[in-house]
Amino acid sequence: KQAAYAAQRDVEPISRDGQRIEVMMNAGLVDDTPMLGLTGADGIGLFRTEFQFMVADTLPSRERQTRLYRDVLEGAGHRPVIFRTVDIGGDKVLPYLRDAERGAAEENPAMGWRALRLALERNGLLKVQARALLEAAAGRSLQVMFPMVSEPWEFDAAKAVFEQQIAHFRRHRHRLPDEILYGVMLEVPSLAETLDTLLPRLSFVSIGTNDLTQFLFAADRADPRLAERYDWLSPAILRFLQRVVGTVRGSPVRLGVCGEMGGRRLEALALLALGIRRLSITPAAVGPIKELVRRIDLAEAGEAMQGWLAAPPADLRGVMARWAEERGI
Ligand code: PEP
Ligand code: MG
Repeated sequence: KQAAYAAQRDVEPISRDGQRIEVMMNAGLVDDTPMLGLTGADGIGLFRTEFQFMVADTLPSRERQTRLYRDVLEGAGHRPVIFRTVDIGGDKVLPYLRDAERGAAEENPAMGWRALRLALERNGLLKVQARALLEAAAGRSLQVMFPMVSEPWEFDAAKAVFEQQIAHFRRHRHRLPDEILYGVMLEVPSLAETLDTLLPRLSFVSIGTNDLTQFLFAADRADPRLAERYDWLSPAILRFLQRVVGTVRGSPVRLGVCGEMGGRRLEALALLALGIRRLSITPAAVGPIKELVRRIDLAEAGEAMQGWLAAPPADLRGVMARWAEERGI
């Protein structure tokens, strides 16, 4: 396994027609950061900060959070890290939050009081996390991403919490990050409808295909009876993503995908064909996807995808699989 990583570590993800794709990895624990060096990933495109909250017995203190974020940034060296603010609530229940605060009685926890919805109301939690991130990234670049944003105002409210803390740091002459980049996850379909109005305030958008698929198909991502029913290579999802790519195109906002979809061969091909140029995926997929990129002519794939989505064949997965096979992809 180590040998496989070593063989792919230095592979440059450049397409046959010369486009450099960013292949980043997802992480959630400080122990994940050595995988950056092992896989040669371009950075951490999704750091799931809630992992620290989930493995602890009590709410992690600001000091503990700061230490984790600093260790991750140090482990990443010059490579970028995108920290996602806590995505707890819903099915990620924290036993140490009081019942009233953890929505224990929710019938649809995935659509419930989770992630930013919880963090904005119980905003002490977000304040502490903001301080920890600002402190950990003092003197370097900080990238912050908010989960489950459904409407633009939620982004504004979350950013305001950071700005309050930044003002506090300034008053006390604490050292701040050299730059702060803000972005959102696009994982609730409603955000796609107003994304154009939010773009001027963003540095990046990351599509969370795990939740997005669940919400587009109204299909619980954790229900094994539904796992096989809806395909990531369905015209519904791909047309949705095509529209998002169109919305972002022409703006300086960096668009990526950080759901599991990007770590699979044909799915990654589809995303690249749609015009996505940044993938953040599970570390084990980084090497294989970098090699995949080298076999694709993106202009040709893009054209093929436009055709497939204009008049979708009944078995798009089959059509794509044959198309890829004919080209040695
Ligand atoms: C997603 O929803 O696609 C995602 C990347 O976030 P998570 O899997 O942590 O919900
Ligand atoms: Mg999600």
